[in-house]
Amino acid sequence: MSPVRNKYIAKLYKAKTEKISNGVSKVYLIGAGPGGAGLITVRALEILRQADVVIYDYLVDKKLLNYTKKDAELICCDKLGKNRYSDGFLVHQERIDALVVKKAREGKKVIRLKNGDPSTFGRLSQELDNLVKERIEFEVVSGVTAASAASAGSGIPLTSRKFASSCVFVAGHEDPAKGKSAVDWDALNRSGTIVLYMAVESLGRIVKELLKYGKDKDTAVAIVKDASLITQKTLIGTLNDIAKKAKADKIKPPAIIIIGNVVKLEKRFNWLKKTRRILFTGLSKERFFIKGAYFHLPLIKIEPMEDYGEFDGYLRDIKAFDWIVFSSRYGVEYFFKRLLAIGLDARALESIKIAAIGNSTKMRLLDFSITADLVPKIESSEGLLEEFTKIDIKEKKIFLPRSDISDKNLNKGFEKLGAILSASYAYRNVALKDLPNLDLNSFNEVVFTSPSGVRNFVKRYGRLPKKIKKSFIGEVTLKEAKRCRISD
Ligand code: SAH
Repeated sequence: MSPVRNKYIAKLYKAKTEKISNGVSKVYLIGAGPGGAGLITVRALEILRQADVVIYDYLVDKKLLNYTKKDAELICCDKLGKNRYSDGFLVHQERIDALVVKKAREGKKVIRLKNGDPSTFGRLSQELDNLVKERIEFEVVSGVTAASAASAGSGIPLTSRKFASSCVFVAGHEDPAKGKSAVDWDALNRSGTIVLYMAVESLGRIVKELLKYGKDKDTAVAIVKDASLITQKTLIGTLNDIAKKAKADKIKPPAIIIIGNVVKLEKRFNWLKKTRRILFTGLSKERFFIKGAYFHLPLIKIEPMEDYGEFDGYLRDIKAFDWIVFSSRYGVEYFFKRLLAIGLDARALESIKIAAIGNSTKMRLLDFSITADLVPKIESSEGLLEEFTKIDIKEKKIFLPRSDISDKNLNKGFEKLGAILSASYAYRNVALKDLPNLDLNSFNEVVFTSPSGVRNFVKRYGRLPKKIKKSFIGEVTLKEAKRCRISD
C-alpha cells in the first residue's frame, strides 16, 4: 500500500476512534413492519438485539421487544406526548428527537423502532433532519410497509399487468396546519392503484373528492384493517358504498384502503377467505405448511418463579436421584437455567436416567445434548406412567421439575408405583392480559392444548359458537373443556 494511502487510512481511523471516544453512538432508524412481529427484517432484528435504548412507535408489535437485551431501556413514544393527532404533536416530535439525541450522546446504542417502513409516512425526514443538525451518525433500515402487508393479506396485488401498471401511496390524514389539501386528487384519478394510509376517519371526504374529479362510482375499493394481525379484516365495496360500509362495520384505524381495478382480483386471490382458519391457543410457535391458515393466540406466558430456594436445593443434590422426569419443554429450559445459575452443568446428570413426556420435551433436551432414555408413545401423563409400569422404580428417587399449575396425577401415579418422588416448581404459568377482541365466527376451528388455556379462553371470550370445531390436545384438556362446557 502506498504511503499516501496508508496516511489516509490512519487519518480515517483516527477520526473514527475520536468519534467513539467522544462517546456519541450511532442511531438506527428501523422499520418494524406493520402489524405482526413476523414481518421485521433479519437485519433489523439483529440490530434490535444489541440495542441499549429502544424508542418505539405505539403501533409496533410489543412482541418484538422480547428480542431486546434484558437491561435495554424501552420507551414508547405514546408516553411522551398526547394523542398523535392532537395539537401537541409537534411538541411530541420534538421531545422524541431530543430524547434520541440525549441517549446517543450518552454513548448508548439507540434504536428508533418505527411502524412499517420508516420512509413511508413515518416522519423520517424530520428525525433525520435533526440528526444531521446535531451531527449524529445514523443508519436507516427499511421495513415492510402497511400497503405490502395489506396486499399480501387480502390477495390484492397492488399492480397487475392487466389492471394497473402504477400505484400511488397517499396520506389520507393531512397535517391540519396545512389548511388546504396538498393532494392533487384530479391527478390521482388518472393513476393506477391508489393506496390510502391514515384515511379511515376521512374516507367520506376522500370519496367525495375522487367522485368530484370524475372517478367512476363503481370503482372497486378494499379496506384492510389490522393487516398481518390475528384481527385482520377485509371489507370490499365500491366508491359509491365503501364509506357507508365502513361506518356500518365500525372500521377503526389502522387500515389501508386500496382503490382501483386490482381490487377485483380479491375474489380470486383472497387466500385467507378461501382457506380453513384455525385458532391455536397453545404456546408453540407458528406452524408452517399445514393445511389452512394458522392463527396463534397464546393465552398464557411462562415466567420464572420468584423464589428458587427449594428447587435449587434439589439441584445441588441432583446426583442422589435415579430419574429426572421432564413433563414439559419449559421444565427442561428452567432446569438447565437453574443448574447453570448454581454453578453446575450437564455433567452433574451423568449417572441419572432421563424421561421426557413427549416429542417437544425430547427435542428441547437435545438442545442441551441430552438424549432422553424414555419417551412414551402416548404423549400424556397417563402415557408416561404406563411406560414406568414396565420398569421397576420401587424405592427409586425421582425428581420432577414442574409448573405451578400442573396436574397432580403424575405425582399420585409415581407414588402408587412405589417411587420416592420429589416435585418442585421450575416455572409459572401466567394468564395473558390484553388479549385482542376477536370475531370468533371468523374461525373454523379452535385448538386448546392445556386446561389453563381452556379456562383463560372461557374467561376472556366466553363459550364458542356451535358451528366452530373445537379440538383438544390431551385428556386433561378435554376434561377441563367438558367441565367448562365448551366441548361438543
Ligand atoms: N410507516 C408506516 C406507516 C405509518 S402511518 C408504514 O410504512 O406502514 C400509519 C398508518 O399506516 C395507519 O393509519 C394505517 O393506514 C397504516 N397501517 C399501519 N399498520 C397497519 C396495519 N397493521 N394494517 C393496516 N394499516 C396499517
